[in-house]
Amino acid sequence: MKVLKFGGTSVGNPHAIEQVCDIIKNNNLQDRCAIIVSAVGNTTDMLVKCGQLAYHKNEKYRYFIEEIEIQHLNIIRALFPSQSNFISSIKKRLNFLEIFCDSIFHVMELSKRSLDRIMSLGELISSYLFYEKIKEYGFKTIWKDSQELIVTDERYGCAQVDIIKSYKKIQYFFSIESAPYAILPGFIASSPRKEVTTLGRGGSDYSAAIIAAALKAEVLEIWTDVSGIMTADPRIVLQAFPIENLFYEEAIELSNLGAKVIYPPTLHPVIEKQIPILVKNTFSPSEKGTRINNAPCFKHSVTGISVKKNMTMITLKGIGMINILNYLKRLFTVLSREKIQVLFFSTSEHSILLGIEESEVMQIKNSINNEFSQEIDKKYLFPVLVEQDLSIITVIGDKTKNMHRTSARMFITLSKNNIYIRDLAYNVSKKNMSAVIKNSDFKKALNVLHETFFEIPPKPINLFVAGIGKVGRKLLEHISIQKTYLIKELQIQVMGLCNSKTMYFEEQGIDVKNWKKNLESGNRMRLHRFIEKIHLMNMHNSIFIDATDSQDVARTYDKLFVKGIGVITCNKIACSSSYKDYKNLKKIARYFKVPFFLETNVGAGLPIISTLNDLLNSGDKIHLIEAVLSGSINFIFNHFKSGRTFSETVREAQKRGYTEPDPRIDLSGIDVMRKILILVRECGDSMELSQIRQKPFLPEECVKANNVESFYEKLSQYENYFGRLREEAKNKGKKLRFMAKYEKGNANVELKSIGPEHPFYQLEGDDNIILYKTQRYYEQPLIIKGAGAGAEVTASGILSDIIKASR
Ligand code: ADP
Ligand code: ASP
Ligand code: MG
Repeated sequence: MKVLKFGGTSVGNPHAIEQVCDIIKNNNLQDRCAIIVSAVGNTTDMLVKCGQLAYHKNEKYRYFIEEIEIQHLNIIRALFPSQSNFISSIKKRLNFLEIFCDSIFHVMELSKRSLDRIMSLGELISSYLFYEKIKEYGFKTIWKDSQELIVTDERYGCAQVDIIKSYKKIQYFFSIESAPYAILPGFIASSPRKEVTTLGRGGSDYSAAIIAAALKAEVLEIWTDVSGIMTADPRIVLQAFPIENLFYEEAIELSNLGAKVIYPPTLHPVIEKQIPILVKNTFSPSEKGTRINNAPCFKHSVTGISVKKNMTMITLKGIGMINILNYLKRLFTVLSREKIQVLFFSTSEHSILLGIEESEVMQIKNSINNEFSQEIDKKYLFPVLVEQDLSIITVIGDKTKNMHRTSARMFITLSKNNIYIRDLAYNVSKKNMSAVIKNSDFKKALNVLHETFFEIPPKPINLFVAGIGKVGRKLLEHISIQKTYLIKELQIQVMGLCNSKTMYFEEQGIDVKNWKKNLESGNRMRLHRFIEKIHLMNMHNSIFIDATDSQDVARTYDKLFVKGIGVITCNKIACSSSYKDYKNLKKIARYFKVPFFLETNVGAGLPIISTLNDLLNSGDKIHLIEAVLSGSINFIFNHFKSGRTFSETVREAQKRGYTEPDPRIDLSGIDVMRKILILVRECGDSMELSQIRQKPFLPEECVKANNVESFYEKLSQYENYFGRLREEAKNKGKKLRFMAKYEKGNANVELKSIGPEHPFYQLEGDDNIILYKTQRYYEQPLIIKGAGAGAEVTASGILSDIIKASR
């Protein structure tokens, strides 16, 4: 005998039901099967809604009844094209729902008992519908109402099963029935007075377990919409993966502490009879799924991570606590009398901390205060303290292994990611470690812990991109193309975007191919709101990309660092403003252990800064830096040949996108000064921009022109001067290069004429070149050369910084 249970999504639509029928067809026909079915999709939620709306005198309950009817009739029409006569029995149940809700509406009364009657309709309808479909396949099948087999007490909403009576009834029924397939509704049962009861939300798993245990089934198969019990909730951790084998004990811990995939009470009856559980995916039946039993197997040192949201911590404390006799016994007596499940427990000499469900807090707070009222009056104890909006995150260890190292890693990971830990405690067996954290941190905590315990680098990265100009656009293009290649290895998600007008966010990640449309539909851009929203989203591995040239954006980095968000920037402003600010940013980023990468500040995608850092970090000493760092100026001087005027050449460079819209930004040399300053600072020198010596080659009149057109006019008045510069160099067999230099603590930028003996002589087009003369590279300096400007290479540089950050 096998027991199979199919959850709500597995019978949620016609296609899913056919899928389930295939699974049953492919089952070994020699096996007898009891098949337990949940309500279709979210029917139970809608039924609850109907009851509550009717109770609150809200006529909208009719709308939900109609929705339920449409949903079921659509399934019936799709599965049974030639209308069937059983439809009337389903309609009868729906009519009952309507009449029942109408009376709730009129009398404005909704007891837990009535709610159970309403909720029971979901499983009654779905199982009957499913039974009719299975019959069509020609299998000998019966339908049996579980109310006749499972007996409970009268705790409506979450009734306690009378195991002995239920087992007897189940055994008797299956002994007199010979049909190989029995279809039964999950979740529902009946009280001794034959009233409908339910086994708690998610309770169909439990129904199946009771039937499996009563019949000593060879296996209990739970068919759901995920490929087994995963290392963490797959809706929160995209990298979660199925756990192949679990010990019963571990499965209990995982489900008790938040893994919704199995309803916690399910495990007890099957463990008692040592029946293995197989959790499988209805929509991918060939996958192995998870097997739960007690057979030895190889496993990670950590089995899985669960999280329970919306928990409340209650603290009982006071300096007189140690003098109170049996205070623990008294406390636990109160808890057990009130049937409160404690999910977190930690003590010190004069305080006890308990983690419980939010809904139970009022009841237990009063009961504990009453129990200890005398001690509270005598001021031995304070009245119970309550803290809300907390989550308990638990790392479940392999029950065979030691948890000491694991707990240290858990603590380090959470604190490194700026997650406030209210408390930390082992469970009694020392195989699990729980931390109490804020609700607002639970997603981040789950993801970073999953990374620590289950993933090998690179890490998934969540990006917020500011500035969708030329570079920003190219970056989004690169990400959308690279996603196909990187996806297996690295997951880059863009969570937020902004330009100077609008901003747009999506918690599940933005479709970067449609960035334009998304951005157009976004909210008005306000920089402080953009930053606030990043903080609020509180994603793990968040990186802010600054692809703007804005000073205001550059001023936000420190606010991001302190929240654990990294920055990758091609905006030079932050690192070339005052040395104090530069140093401060570096210090904060280091303190909060977040990436701060600025490779594209100098030479676009060329590995100029990373090479310099590698040299310094490995103990080398820099003697000289010499560089051509302006692709625009280099392009201009390489194209300023006899027969062409200087202004013509500059215009062409501008037209081809080699210069800024105002070419003076390039020609004035300020950009090169900023770049060499950044390199100097990376070398550890505390230089300011004003300390860089500069010999301008652009006449002052040109620099001061009112606008770009009058700049060109002025430029043409100086053609003789520029022509002379070129001819003088040419006559000496030299070329003009705008060079930056750093040596012996001094830095300067100037236009130089250099001969063929110089390594920069052959520099083509708009390329950049940099020479590092170091202690190691003394005779043969280290040279890096290549395209050093343009959106394409800058975006590639940013992308490689992102990949670096992910490692
Ligand atoms: P069913 O309707 O089949 O009973 P449930 O919705 O009750 O399914 O449980 C399956 C869901 O549990 C999954 O879709 C998943 O989102 C959630 N879940 C939470 N934690 C885990 C986990 N550790 N492993 C697998 N699923 C989990
Ligand atoms: N239909 C019930 C619920 O949604 C029981 C179940 O699906 O297990 O809670
Ligand atoms: Mg379930």
